Amino acid sequence: MKTKWFCLLVLAIAAPLFLKSAYADDIIKIRLSYKIILDPADGNPPPTLTGPDYPEIHAIVDSMNKLQEVYGRGYRFVLEGPVESIGGMGDTDGPSGVFYNIDLRTHEFDISRPDGSVMRLSAKSVLESTAKDNPILYKWKDKAINIYINRYTSGGKCSFPSHSIFDRSEHVIVIGANESVATHLHEIGHYFSLKHTHQEGFWGIGDENIKDTIDDDATWTSRDRIALENYGRRFNQLSIARQERVLNVWENIMSYHHQHGSVLTRLTEGQLDHWASIANIRREYVTDGQMIFVKKGGLTVKDYATNPTHNWKPLLELEMHHGNAYGEVKYGIVRANEAGGDIILIFPGAYPEKLIINRPVVLRATRQGSVTIGSD
Ligand SMILES: [Zn+2]
Repeated sequence: MKTKWFCLLVLAIAAPLFLKSAYADDIIKIRLSYKIILDPADGNPPPTLTGPDYPEIHAIVDSMNKLQEVYGRGYRFVLEGPVESIGGMGDTDGPSGVFYNIDLRTHEFDISRPDGSVMRLSAKSVLESTAKDNPILYKWKDKAINIYINRYTSGGKCSFPSHSIFDRSEHVIVIGANESVATHLHEIGHYFSLKHTHQEGFWGIGDENIKDTIDDDATWTSRDRIALENYGRRFNQLSIARQERVLNVWENIMSYHHQHGSVLTRLTEGQLDHWASIANIRREYVTDGQMIFVKKGGLTVKDYATNPTHNWKPLLELEMHHGNAYGEVKYGIVRANEAGGDIILIFPGAYPEKLIINRPVVLRATRQGSVTIGSD
């Protein structure tokens, strides 16, 4: 309850500061750009989609935003422009001719090198490089997550962000025309470097694990199996807290348990922290703000006082590791964009400090516990 009270108080304080904005600035927007590849035979979209406006895609984005509301972190998806149709009837060497009649998740192309040798590349990477070379034809957008839909793709596919901050490849998501809300959000989860719940520590940047998801396996087909493997008891024999941990995996967006009849809706606090870290530093060009972490025991200016090149940038770099955060709220405020748009996410604890808020910024507590600022 205290957390809830705190959020309301802070929003009430911050609200007048939003008046200069053209839109409510208490959220961080993640820009999506959907492209529907048309059938080269008749110029129609895949049969389950209704062009030219694609209400099905708008409904998916709305549903993903309802889940974001539940997660309570302040992220929302927005469409960057209309849902686009690309290619068309008779388009033999453009998007329709090359990419409509294949499974973009599994297909491979043989590409000839200048020296005559041949290399095999995934359809996804060929689509990405072709689209970047022909941005008008493929409606490519540098500042959005580019999502391409065709008829024959089974499921979806997205790569993790690159290890290099300067390498902005691996940007595209390919997905089938009849996929669920959970599949769309799952692929976007990969975009922000979330691994499968059954592959923790195996994929993605470095060796970061998500600490608050229990063991999972794609072949475990029931809640009971997850409960037995982790706790040696059936689901109904567990405490409420342990049942929640089982459900956090069984219903997790990044799991494969939809194959076993589960409805996937959940992301854990640890996954949401990781998402925000990556959104800050590896995928910041698709968002309109930063999530600045404040955590007890986090970094202070003193940590950098002996560093002659000290500025706020090293902290930004460190934020990708969610163990690193500012130790006091005031440092988060100094780091926030003076023009607004950033969210300071404060982890549980007491922060006995005097705050001067001199810029439009949103303070949020997490669901993990209450936050107190100042003294009682
Ligand atoms: Zn996946």
